[in-house]
Amino acid sequence: MFSKSSPIFCGLAHSSLSLSSTGRVRPCCAIDSKTFGVVKTPKLSENNLNEVANSYEMNKLRQELKNGQWPEACRECQKKELEGGGSLRKSWNSHFQDPQKILLNINDDGSLKKLEELTYLDLTFGNKCNLRCITCNPTCSSAWIKESHEKGEYLDVTSQSPFDWYSAAVLDQLVNSLPNLKTLNFVGGEPLINKEHRFLLERLIEKKISSEIHLSYVTNLTILDDELVGLWRNFKSVALAVSVDGVDKINDYIRYPSNWSAFQANVEKLKKYTQSTNIYISWCLTISVFNILSLNELFKWMYYEYLDCPGEFNKRPGIFTPMPYMQRVFNPATMNISILPPELKSRAYEELQALEKTLKAFELPRWETISQVDVLKDWLQEAPANQNECWNTLLKDLVWTDQYRKLEVKNYIPWTKEYLS
Ligand code: SF4
Ligand code: SF4
Repeated sequence: MFSKSSPIFCGLAHSSLSLSSTGRVRPCCAIDSKTFGVVKTPKLSENNLNEVANSYEMNKLRQELKNGQWPEACRECQKKELEGGGSLRKSWNSHFQDPQKILLNINDDGSLKKLEELTYLDLTFGNKCNLRCITCNPTCSSAWIKESHEKGEYLDVTSQSPFDWYSAAVLDQLVNSLPNLKTLNFVGGEPLINKEHRFLLERLIEKKISSEIHLSYVTNLTILDDELVGLWRNFKSVALAVSVDGVDKINDYIRYPSNWSAFQANVEKLKKYTQSTNIYISWCLTISVFNILSLNELFKWMYYEYLDCPGEFNKRPGIFTPMPYMQRVFNPATMNISILPPELKSRAYEELQALEKTLKAFELPRWETISQVDVLKDWLQEAPANQNECWNTLLKDLVWTDQYRKLEVKNYIPWTKEYLS
């Protein structure tokens, strides 16, 4: 007898939309874009929201999950869950309170019965950014276009590339079509410098739905003005995941051309706001060859900034912790920690052992980061086939970047002194 599998509920697939930097739809940022077919999905700048939300690709994915089948494009979540670990699906499902009610809004073919039942929106506002982080590229940061062209890379990404999908008409359509919006996540580029993002906030305030909405951001925090904080006061809460990759000069080199003193001044300003507003801070860290040997110092900085933070911020350890969300650089492959030579890997390993001791001494309410250190150790042990080639390319690229940016990496990243003449 045929037995129907239980639905696999995913709040992000069934009650949310994520728009990529070119305004194309996907269920979440963890989806395997190629398998899902993001490039084939309709663009919001050329189609209405109903066509976008009920695209063939979105419907197929929602339908498979509802029928209890893992879509191929969700293999990242499936793999993590089969291994007994957490996944993006699991961590987000706690934000969606009534899965059965949400699934009732999904037709048998996976389409949405009512668009207005969507409650979560994840927006990548193009690639507009004011930084050229060394681990980034022009598809994520417009500031990178000139430098990468000079180097002969990413020649197809130009200022005319299709990153400006978010016209006033498009944003109005979002506001008018989604009256039950509860969470709005902004990534970039750098969302805080984006005027259209402010326009969207103003429209939500005018529509009188802002007080029900949680905002969240991933930001480089190079800009923080009172006008924006004034807008934020109209929302239920604002969670800022602040990107920081090192202390002082290490951060200046990686997050070029930001300046540590100016960044710290903005952190101080933000900490004051947490006293009297609904603003919360957490850290976001990108692991690369540039910071793997200095993580102990960085984690101490993050921890003491957290303890020093007044107001509600450090009273919500279950939600916002002093420990960062960590991601690893895979592209460029030359900046992946696995390509370091054995001598540097063994020093990085010692640094991680010191970091483990530091974390244990902190007596944190959550211990996930200690197990994340084990993950870092595993990454270090990887030995890609093209390791030597990547290492040599990295050294060559550092010389090129020094000349182009008129700086000396040796003055910023201590280990490079021994490897660059
Ligand atoms: S199961 Fe995972 S990858 Fe698939 S839509 Fe949900 S969160 Fe995204
Ligand atoms: S701030 Fe973000 S988008 Fe901008 S260059 Fe850095 S990593 Fe890229």
